[in-house]
Amino acid sequence: MPNNLAEAMEVAGRFIAAGEEFDWIAGGTDLIPNYKWHLNPKPNVISLANISELNQLTRTHIGAMVRLQDLTENEEMHPLLATAAGSIASVMIRRSATVGGNICLDTRCFWYNQSEDWRQSIDWCHKCDCGTEADCRVIQNQNDLCVATYQADLAPALICLNATIHLASPNGLREMPLSDFFELDGMKKNVLNRGEIVTHITLLEDSYSLIGTYHKLSQRETWDFPEAGIAATWDGKSLSSLKIASTGIESIPRDHSEQVEAAIESWNGSQSIDELSESVRKSVKPVNNTGFQPSYRRKMVKVLTRRSLKQLGIK
Ligand SMILES: Cc1cc2nc3c(=O)[nH]c(=O)nc-3n(C[C@H](O)[C@H](O)[C@H](O)COP(=O)(O)OP(=O)(O)OC[C@H]3O[C@@H](n4cnc5c(N)ncnc54)[C@H](O)[C@@H]3O)c2cc1C
Ligand code: SF4
Repeated sequence: MPNNLAEAMEVAGRFIAAGEEFDWIAGGTDLIPNYKWHLNPKPNVISLANISELNQLTRTHIGAMVRLQDLTENEEMHPLLATAAGSIASVMIRRSATVGGNICLDTRCFWYNQSEDWRQSIDWCHKCDCGTEADCRVIQNQNDLCVATYQADLAPALICLNATIHLASPNGLREMPLSDFFELDGMKKNVLNRGEIVTHITLLEDSYSLIGTYHKLSQRETWDFPEAGIAATWDGKSLSSLKIASTGIESIPRDHSEQVEAAIESWNGSQSIDELSESVRKSVKPVNNTGFQPSYRRKMVKVLTRRSLKQLGIK
């Protein structure tokens, strides 16, 4: 188990040089259940548990190994992050689950998140085809795209707070706005290269002047993955500061700046709230691979967006 970032990079570099597959493991609350179901397990895992650099938590620096429960309990945190983190799973899971693991959460699909026997009985699917070259069961006859859904809660809140994500690999360090981190592919999921990890997220002190909301649709309110989630922020004065982002709808969390910018050009009070909520609804394309029907999830995107804008006090 590596004791610092340099050692982690060295171990990863060795596996890569030897042509061996591996996964990073943080809290293990998603990876271990997936391994138990034989969903693309690797022969090696590298634990991030002993790397103290990844545990740092301040108002502007959130280490990848910070536990979700710590986000909810730290009074210095932005209330939007505490709300989004507090909506994830249960207290017990949140005490193990990490920020990095949540951002890098595997995409989900009801044809995939099943036991091996169940998947074998339907002859597999493209994301875990067991060498059979099975097709995607959601969008068929294309054979090279997985449209599994990104169902993690933190990303839209962080996008609305203008967060930057920081990565490290044996080749060096890089950083980018969080919304640029994700890739519209249910298997690749994000821009991480082999051997690369998320080290931390940074926020500007200015983000703390933003007011935020997070609304989530899930099957069970007490603990469940988002079937749709909408985060929104603004500075309480100027519509130009408004940001909206969604999760639980497509293979990536989405930044809805395009819809916001179009709406605020000719803002007309409550009518514009309705029109903006409708244009966010129209911009998302859920598919039939989670608990609720795509048409219902899409309708709820409009409801959650309108609810968020009203809660922010936007008129
Ligand atoms: C019953 C139950 C309910 C849940 N409900 C929710 C929910 O409502 N909302 C939600 O968002 N999630 C939910 N989860 C999923 C999960 O618990 C959380 O998303 C959690 O934050 C994942 O973090 P982890 O540290 O356990 O990740 P892990 O399981 O350790 O890892 C997850 C993935 O991220 C990768 N990874 C981890 N850390 C890094 C890093 N620093 N750099 C690069 N890759 C990394 C791993 O390789 C793996 O692919 C639920 C899980 C369970 C079991
Ligand atoms: S979207 Fe298609 S390829 Fe991806 S997990 Fe679902 S059925 Fe499999």
